[in-house]
Amino acid sequence: MRILVTGGAGFIGSALIRHLIGETDHEVLNLDKLTYAGVLSSLDPVGDSPRYRFVRGDICDGELVGRLLGEFRPDVIAHLAAESHVDRSIDGPGAFIQTNLVGTYTLLAEALAYWRGLDGDRRDAFRFHHISTDEVFGSLGEDGYFTEATAYDPRSPYSASKAGSDHLVRAWGHTYGLPVLVTNCSNNYGPYHFPEKLIPLIIIRALAGEPLPVYGDGSNVRDWLFVEDHARALRAVFERGVPGETYNVGGDSERRNLEVVQAICATLDRLAPRADGRAYAGQIGFVADRPGHDHRYAIDASKIKAELGWAPQVGFEEGIERTVRWYLDNRGWWGDILAGRYDTARLGLAKA
Ligand code: NAD
Repeated sequence: MRILVTGGAGFIGSALIRHLIGETDHEVLNLDKLTYAGVLSSLDPVGDSPRYRFVRGDICDGELVGRLLGEFRPDVIAHLAAESHVDRSIDGPGAFIQTNLVGTYTLLAEALAYWRGLDGDRRDAFRFHHISTDEVFGSLGEDGYFTEATAYDPRSPYSASKAGSDHLVRAWGHTYGLPVLVTNCSNNYGPYHFPEKLIPLIIIRALAGEPLPVYGDGSNVRDWLFVEDHARALRAVFERGVPGETYNVGGDSERRNLEVVQAICATLDRLAPRADGRAYAGQIGFVADRPGHDHRYAIDASKIKAELGWAPQVGFEEGIERTVRWYLDNRGWWGDILAGRYDTARLGLAKA
């Protein structure tokens, strides 16, 4: 298979590409604009594989997308390129509207023209796979789960832009017959996660001896999925999923934010004890809650389990241990980011 991955220099896109090059014979073209969140060194493990190629470009550039589709002739478009950070969407929603909505529209328009030009078996086999989030469903109380039938109720500029892009993708399926697939996934974590996100931020700030900020009282609940399990789920969906269908992907690992931070601290206490012998948890501090902070997300992933035989393989405790070890062993990767190649001011971290 030939797979055009958009946003392949990001956290999940790079995990997908490492998986596809490492575990399959598929060929990959990675189209990524390299925003602040795009980190090409996340693809170092792919090395100089002849099955991998990178093009720097914007999904909003229809001419470029059309040309790449014609040259590469993919069987699958795995669309991950997005602005993805909720806090940034509150400060500056414009980029989210541009990439997540206009970019997805541009990709759909070019994909439709390309797909219509395919013949016979290749036309039947083509898939447009849109990768989305559980945040489109809004917020849950203490009970219940998001299923594929849950009504959309996005609350932040980020989740609203993703919800809009999901609707566009399904509309292109219903209206034009484009063979689309949508996945809505819970919070990912693991190696190569950009330092502004909760888990890497806590690890890095803990090691720097800085306060560990927890929003509100830390009671917000998220379901956590190890990113390599997500990569396997995406592959299962675009290889075997039914066009027109949506699949929810989750880790069966609901944790309060405070529990997540405490788990990281306990792991660091074992693997990299503080020089003064004190517990890292002593660095935890509570900060004003995020505006409109959703209380709980929880995914019912029974459809993808029953229909495609996927299940998460890495439990939360193992995943946190692997993640903390990775950040301890790969200080060069995140040190580069903190060294000024990116806007670190908003991470509240001193530049290295
Ligand atoms: P990320 O921010 O780490 O990576 C996004 C990538 O997209 C970056 O490499 C960036 O350079 C690229 N990009 C941004 N705008 C672009 C544009 N206009 N043209 C081309 N490339 C562009 O994001 P992520 O965490 O890897 O998330 C990937 C996808 O998965 C997103 O669509 C996100 O909504 C979705 N998702 C993420 C999570 C999560 O927990 N991280 C959970 C569920 C779904």
